[in-house]
Amino acid sequence: MKAVRLVQPGRRLELQEVEVPAAGPGELLVRVKAAGICHSDAHYRAGKSRVQPLPLTLGHEVAGVVETAGAGATNFSPGERVCLHYLVTCGECGHCQGGSEQFCASAAMIGKHRDGGYAEFIAIPSRNAFRLPDEIPFEQGAILMCSSATALHALNKARLQPGESVAVFGTGGLGFSAIQLAIALGAREVFAVDIKLGKLERAKGLGAVPVNAAECDPVLEIRRLTGGGGVDVALELIGLPRTMQQAVRVLAIKGRAALAGITDKTFEVAPYEEVLNKEAEIIGVSDHLAQELPLLIQMVRDGKLILSKAITRTVPLEAGAINEALDGLEGFGEDVRVVITM
Ligand SMILES: [Zn+2]
Ligand SMILES: [Zn+2]
Repeated sequence: MKAVRLVQPGRRLELQEVEVPAAGPGELLVRVKAAGICHSDAHYRAGKSRVQPLPLTLGHEVAGVVETAGAGATNFSPGERVCLHYLVTCGECGHCQGGSEQFCASAAMIGKHRDGGYAEFIAIPSRNAFRLPDEIPFEQGAILMCSSATALHALNKARLQPGESVAVFGTGGLGFSAIQLAIALGAREVFAVDIKLGKLERAKGLGAVPVNAAECDPVLEIRRLTGGGGVDVALELIGLPRTMQQAVRVLAIKGRAALAGITDKTFEVAPYEEVLNKEAEIIGVSDHLAQELPLLIQMVRDGKLILSKAITRTVPLEAGAINEALDGLEGFGEDVRVVITM
């Protein structure tokens, strides 16, 4: 079969002819119909994030059709439409059993630690597969498995309750889903903070109150808009010390700031005024969980999470087109959303 693979970090991906993998016990062989090209894949290609073993087929946002089911994988039959949870875990350790499988010591991500979806087929444990309803296109099923899932996990970690107010810092791929999900989960008001007019306009179209941080101090502005109170939940989806600090400072009494943007830089917090005195919480968000995916799929089915406008274009399974899409992500940021279709 054809597979587009990372052979060496820092080099262009290559189209290789490889063996069709076999569905082992408890596994499915899935014929890939769509694979999202994610910003992380650009990092993997550039060598900013370690991928092994090499060569490896990239692609962790995958949807397709069950081709064959291995021994014991009785919950699916050939022909069923599925989307795939990208983290393959042991399913048995304390973390897996306790509902925090992202900390499983043997966790392996498809497209990073084992072959992913930039290929005609992928073999994966059947418990990583989720039924994709007919009304959700494969392209949407694929991209649902990454940023949308992490946006939902961030809202879950922040324990958003109906009637609460939310501030979303960063309205790119994650924010696009986070705004819609927060509204679907009953948020009273969602403030969308960004500096790009196009993104703010789009956030407004989704029902958020746009806050242009290029023109105002978003903390003061949101405090003003909430009568001085601040918000119950703030999501930081950018990964900048400054916006992390703003997410903490904008919190109301008992507010929760969930940080999902990645940075290795530090940011300052005034312990008494910003945290203790309000019993505010700063919460880390790492990835997402398989158990969150059925609700997410249902939300797309119900029209509460609309992803049709999230996909910029589709490309075939060819190294040139995929490398070009990765170049675009490196150059223009996460607003470009390209999906490989087969
Ligand atoms: Zn991704
Ligand atoms: Zn485990």
